[in-house]
Amino acid sequence: MKALTLYNTRTRSKEVFEPATPGVVGMYTCGPTVYAPQHLGNLRSQLFADLLKRTFLYEGYKVTHVINITDVGHLTDDADAGDDKMEAAAKTSGQTAQEVAALYTKQWADDRERVGCLPPEFLPRATEHITEQIELAQKLEQGGYTYLTSDGLYFDTAKFPGYSDFAGLDLEAQQSAGRVAEVDEKRNPADFALWKVAPEGVKRQQEWDSPWGRGFPGWHLECSAMSVKYLGENFDVHTGGIDHVSVHHTNEVAQSECGLGVHPWVRYWLHNEFLSLDKEKMSKSKGHVFVLDGLVEMGFAPLSYRYFFLQAHYRQQQRYSQEAMEAADTGYKRLCRQVIEVRDAPGEPDAEKLAPFQARFRDALHDDLNAPRAVAVAWDVAKNKELSAAGKRALFLEFDAVLGLDFANVELPEETQESDPRIDALVQARQEARAGKDFTESDRIRDELLAEGIVIDDTPEGPRWRRE
Ligand code: AMP
Ligand code: ZN
Repeated sequence: MKALTLYNTRTRSKEVFEPATPGVVGMYTCGPTVYAPQHLGNLRSQLFADLLKRTFLYEGYKVTHVINITDVGHLTDDADAGDDKMEAAAKTSGQTAQEVAALYTKQWADDRERVGCLPPEFLPRATEHITEQIELAQKLEQGGYTYLTSDGLYFDTAKFPGYSDFAGLDLEAQQSAGRVAEVDEKRNPADFALWKVAPEGVKRQQEWDSPWGRGFPGWHLECSAMSVKYLGENFDVHTGGIDHVSVHHTNEVAQSECGLGVHPWVRYWLHNEFLSLDKEKMSKSKGHVFVLDGLVEMGFAPLSYRYFFLQAHYRQQQRYSQEAMEAADTGYKRLCRQVIEVRDAPGEPDAEKLAPFQARFRDALHDDLNAPRAVAVAWDVAKNKELSAAGKRALFLEFDAVLGLDFANVELPEETQESDPRIDALVQARQEARAGKDFTESDRIRDELLAEGIVIDDTPEGPRWRRE
């Protein structure tokens, strides 16, 4: 079997995963900016990190997972201009920045849990780690990597020759495009704020004293400072959405490698592609459909969204549509029915028969977390005629450690009988043949339907049919 192989953004290649300390993985995920509800796309980045964490656990690693809560410093403009998103949201809502943060942190945590994401070992907030951020900025200042402007302390990207390596940036193009205009005193367009000082006479809700004046940390600083605090000066894995590669993660690497004198700071960088939301179409339906509650209002189970997520590889763009979501919901329920049927099966599984399925399941995960293939193996188990019910039960429960679809507990409402006049008529004809003891004819009809993937269950209330 191939070893666990993951696509590393840093090296732009698939690499065999080997943590620095055998058996132990340190992992950091960029979490939410808690100024507004987290939408289904944000949730994709959490589901991806969870799939990765669960895969590590399945492989037998001990995992320390850190996710940050950005509750200060993320500006409305990535080029260090604009208002702080938290302050802006507080102004428009009439709440305090803290109240806004509490509200959306809870929404994010609840939704994460509802789609089956495991809790992180640490969930640090930026506002609770101001000292650590100031200390890192001081290290950078002492190392000669910074300069002061009237606006605060900036990182001088020209002092870090490897700055453009991480994302393969074309800095000359940026220079000629004049992005520097956003903040007049910047030396290079890519330079970024480590500490922003509050302008004279402006009282912000969130501000702290620092060696550079009263103000607040730049957004990127929190991830460097907090990851190092909980995972050490270098660690194994860092994840986030693909949009973070060129600015946020590039800046995290610059700060950390210069401030701590390490290279590489993080060995494996993994990024999920975007979920594209067809806003036009979605906004036509009622309610706040971009968030998980919107799906629930439409009658979907939260875990159907997890099943939807598993239908695409994490490095592929996934398009949300009502139809695709409905298909995922149907697929999830069908698979669950197969699981529920064998969940209480008595007896021991035959280990030899399980092995080929386990090997294929692991192979799928080892191929850069190929979730669609892993789900397909679960379906093969469901359809297999050789495996005993106890064997199926064992495989479903084992696979669910990674799939996270709650196979051990999921309950479904009584299945309402699907209606199809042709099939109904055939089932009725079979019933009549059986009543007349014409078993050749009743078996023929049963086999004809079976060939189409339709199974008849004879229940005390009479025959019911379902799709396999
Ligand atoms: P934010 O709250 O904007 O800081 O984003 C939280 C996480 O969600 C980040 O890792 C983003 O890269 C990710 N993200 C934002 N939009 C999407 C999307 N449409 N699809 C997938 N991930 C996203
Ligand atoms: Zn981050």
